[in-house]
Amino acid sequence: MKKIQKNIRQKINKEITCYEWHSSIVLEGIVDSWDDVVKAGKLAANKGYKGVVNKIEVKNLSIPDIKKPLLKDNYLHGKKVDVLIIGGGIIGCAIARELSKWDISILIIEKEEDLAMHTSSRNDGMIHPGILPKPGTKKAIFNVRGNKLYSKVTKELDVPFRRIGSLMLFEGNYMKLLLPYIKLRAKQNRVEGIQYLSADAIRKRVPAITKDISGGIFVPTTGILSPYKMTIAYGENAVLNGAEISFNTIALSMKKEHESIKAVQTNRGTIYPNLVINAAGVYSDKIAEMAGDQFFTIHPRKGQTIILDKKKGKLIDIVIAKSSLRKSTRSNTKGGGIVKTIDGNILVGPDAYEQPYREDYTTTRENIENIMKKHFPLIPQLSPKDVINYFAGIRAATYEEDFIVEKSEYVENLIHAAGIQSPGLASAPAIAEEIEKITINVLNDIQEVKPKENWNPIRKGIPQLNKMNKYERDRLIKERPDYGIIICRCEEISKGEIIDSIKSPIPAKSIDAIKRRVRPGMGRCQGGFCLPLVSKIIEEETELDMLSITKKGNKSQILSKETKEPDFDNEGGEASGDI
Ligand SMILES: Cc1cc2nc3c(=O)[nH]c(=O)nc-3n(C[C@H](O)[C@H](O)[C@H](O)COP(=O)(O)OP(=O)(O)OC[C@H]3O[C@@H](n4cnc5c(N)ncnc54)[C@H](O)[C@@H]3O)c2cc1C
Repeated sequence: MKKIQKNIRQKINKEITCYEWHSSIVLEGIVDSWDDVVKAGKLAANKGYKGVVNKIEVKNLSIPDIKKPLLKDNYLHGKKVDVLIIGGGIIGCAIARELSKWDISILIIEKEEDLAMHTSSRNDGMIHPGILPKPGTKKAIFNVRGNKLYSKVTKELDVPFRRIGSLMLFEGNYMKLLLPYIKLRAKQNRVEGIQYLSADAIRKRVPAITKDISGGIFVPTTGILSPYKMTIAYGENAVLNGAEISFNTIALSMKKEHESIKAVQTNRGTIYPNLVINAAGVYSDKIAEMAGDQFFTIHPRKGQTIILDKKKGKLIDIVIAKSSLRKSTRSNTKGGGIVKTIDGNILVGPDAYEQPYREDYTTTRENIENIMKKHFPLIPQLSPKDVINYFAGIRAATYEEDFIVEKSEYVENLIHAAGIQSPGLASAPAIAEEIEKITINVLNDIQEVKPKENWNPIRKGIPQLNKMNKYERDRLIKERPDYGIIICRCEEISKGEIIDSIKSPIPAKSIDAIKRRVRPGMGRCQGGFCLPLVSKIIEEETELDMLSITKKGNKSQILSKETKEPDFDNEGGEASGDI
């Protein structure tokens, strides 16, 4: 302890204090910059303590509190459940689905108005093969197993998934030195089928690639899917099997007795769970703190990504990234690459920057330009004109840089699925499987737990008109004429798909919730044409009127007041221009 404190004081600030609590190391003090906070945390990490609790503050920096739902009522007051899951991202939803195999009551609380509104919709949708994580870490184990499980679970849940493979590209012959190292990593992590390809073989596979490539490694198990569709599919299957979800519901505090959580206070009343699962993403350390079990700290790491037009999607049908020895050994690099998406676009990025803010998703010109400068040269036909949008996501990094998937050491009925940064999407099915095992073990000590007799692993997705041939379309349109009315021209999304998303097991009620399920507004015009038409369909199919329709819940109404009589008589998909 003294040695760590001395090191931090020498390198950062003389006033920093370190002490031990619950076998973790706690850091306290005040420094001048956020970079110093992160640096201190890193200096204390992996030095024999269970985790780093970094309470160092930055002079004159105030970090905003968690964004809370506006809603306040008693809808959940007094509710008793066997399992309470905090967080409706890919991790919380995958866990709920696996647990729904058991005859227990499950409730997910999610502070937003829909699933997948934070990191689980703000990533590259890549199902990593599992070469990069350090052998033996939870990241490595869950990534490789999760990757395998996706073949089965995407079939069961009817989520489009393709194993398109990835290329780790070498620039310059000296990079061949990396080959034995990567092969060893693959062997240690049990990633199968990797193969060295010469520059010619690579160009045969991806003709658009730059001539500057000297060779590379092909990894066949890399996959792609839509991360938000996957999250929603997990959530829907859980709900169809009896789990409940309460949106706009935030865990605010907990009441404990004898090292056991007795009650969780929310903005919608007090819930009485037998067991709590912490799947709160970037706030997972705050949930641990509420339960008196904070042994780790999340330091938010932002990543920005560029979305390119589908017309350039034809250039590649694979994931590509330049390799470097540094990148494969450090998890917090500004790596990224070029990723073909399951819907035909190309994503470029992400980068990686430490920031104190957990929900600040702004993008900057500098970062976007750097991403283009770094990755565009790999495919010379890419140009800034192909960019249709950018987004940012926040990784829930711990100082140990590994996932936390375990029962709490000190709180009897608390399980953590925390610090799930990349490759958390790829690892989700395996993390859920592990949490299911732990949960059933813990519950068995509290109550009788039996498998559900009529558990149904199958969930049917919404038909995708733009993926159908002429005959399939004709048949569907005959049955459901709404599928013959195109609402989003860029993405070819029909009125039928939008209605089905509104009437799905977890009904979509906002513009973005519909976008996450069936994509209107995801194309080149980014909703410029279809937004009023989608709003009209929401008004027709729900209890909401035009003025209360939101982009993403809370106070994100699109219209503020009526200016003249609306004219929505034109059913043919033409915007009236009145709103
Ligand atoms: C830029 C970027 C790119 C990435 N690319 C990939 C990739 O290609 N492949 C891959 O495998 N991984 C990738 N990842 C990582 C992956 O996205 C995450 O690991 C994963 O989404 C984490 O899911 P989660 O459910 O833990 O968190 P989240 O999706 O953030 O879900 C947590 C939820 O908890 C809710 N919540 C928080 N606090 C409370 C509270 N008090 N009460 C109620 N609800 C609460 C939040 O609203 C949120 O919805 C990427 C990450 C980033 C940032």
